Amino acid sequence: MLKLRNPGAGKRRWLDQTAERFRQGTQLGLDYALSNKTSNRGKIHAATYPNIRTLGLPSDYCRMAVNQAVQLARSHYGLRKSKRRAGKPTAVRSQGIGLGVNAYKVVGTTLRLSTGSKGEYLWLPLSIPAKWRGRLQQVKGDARLFRRGEDWFVMLPLRVPHTPTVRDGHGEPTVIGVDLGIVRLATAKHPHGTWVVNGRPIRHERERQASLRKRYQRHRRTDRVRAMKGRERRWMTDLNHKVSRQLVDLAIQYPSPVLAFEQLDGIRDRVRGSKRFNRMVSSWAFRQLVDFVQYKAERVGVKVVFVDPRKTSRTCPRCSHATRANRPEQSHFRCVACGYQGNADVVASLNIAGVAAGLLRYGPPDTARPDEGQPGLVGDRLDGVKVDEQQCSHTDSNLESSA
Ligand SMILES: [Zn+2]
Repeated sequence: MLKLRNPGAGKRRWLDQTAERFRQGTQLGLDYALSNKTSNRGKIHAATYPNIRTLGLPSDYCRMAVNQAVQLARSHYGLRKSKRRAGKPTAVRSQGIGLGVNAYKVVGTTLRLSTGSKGEYLWLPLSIPAKWRGRLQQVKGDARLFRRGEDWFVMLPLRVPHTPTVRDGHGEPTVIGVDLGIVRLATAKHPHGTWVVNGRPIRHERERQASLRKRYQRHRRTDRVRAMKGRERRWMTDLNHKVSRQLVDLAIQYPSPVLAFEQLDGIRDRVRGSKRFNRMVSSWAFRQLVDFVQYKAERVGVKVVFVDPRKTSRTCPRCSHATRANRPEQSHFRCVACGYQGNADVVASLNIAGVAAGLLRYGPPDTARPDEGQPGLVGDRLDGVKVDEQQCSHTDSNLESSA
């Protein structure tokens, strides 16, 4: 995500106007989709594209408005299917401006936008932090411009080498595994590093609340105790909103992003035996975090998948050897077979991504479970399916750089 360097008044006007037309175009597409109960891209496109054009939205942007409408419609139906509240047929809030591959180009350190008139472009200088230098050549795919307050930003997708990827005919998804836990609320290894949310503030807050509660109980202030319960929940809900937003923002930097989680029973299993668990993070908080991620992700087209939690914490991501002995302590992983070692949460994140990549590639195992001792990682997912060498070495170099 890069910030535009202080666009002038004329450019701002163009951006605001285009964002508003983009929103209206998306609304047209969504209205059609919902009133005709479809999420078929072809149908929505055919029926609404001409109308969207008449809004004055350049053609390069219309396709993206249709795509956005398709995504919103799908997530609307998805929400309905799972019987969660989907709300009224939806008014589209501004999501900025979707930039299709033909609508923009990064030239040097400037973003060049097509304006709809041939040969006329809008040039928007970018402010580029050091870690982005040299990566702008890797920009590839659909991008998004959006406004926060008075500032404009662009979300550029990077095509990144050395990612656990699968090929499904629509480009290569970037699968990011997210490990949830107590010491670290969330850990996600992604192609450019490791994203971690420390769990300490949560433990601290819960302990503070617990001691307050005790005090109130001593003084028989049941009203206070009840009020605290709500406060604690709201605190956690706020945090979950923040964390889920960060995670989705992280994912969206990558091409065809997929976020992978363990099915949530895994968390309960893993922390069983911890008496202090209730003081730390309760399971509703994890579930809520995953829910938030899911709906925020759907809104921007990030896929979310769930994997079988068994063995994700004790399998070696390099050689696939799975045993409890790989996990001598809670926080550390060391493979007894090949010596690979690393932070246990990072290892779990890699394994979750690995299992998810296998699922995306081959579908869920519909026959037997993978053999005992054989975790469902890419490469050994199903009999007779071999992953090519290149894929393996990619995965390996990715691991080594993280170790
Ligand atoms: Zn190993």
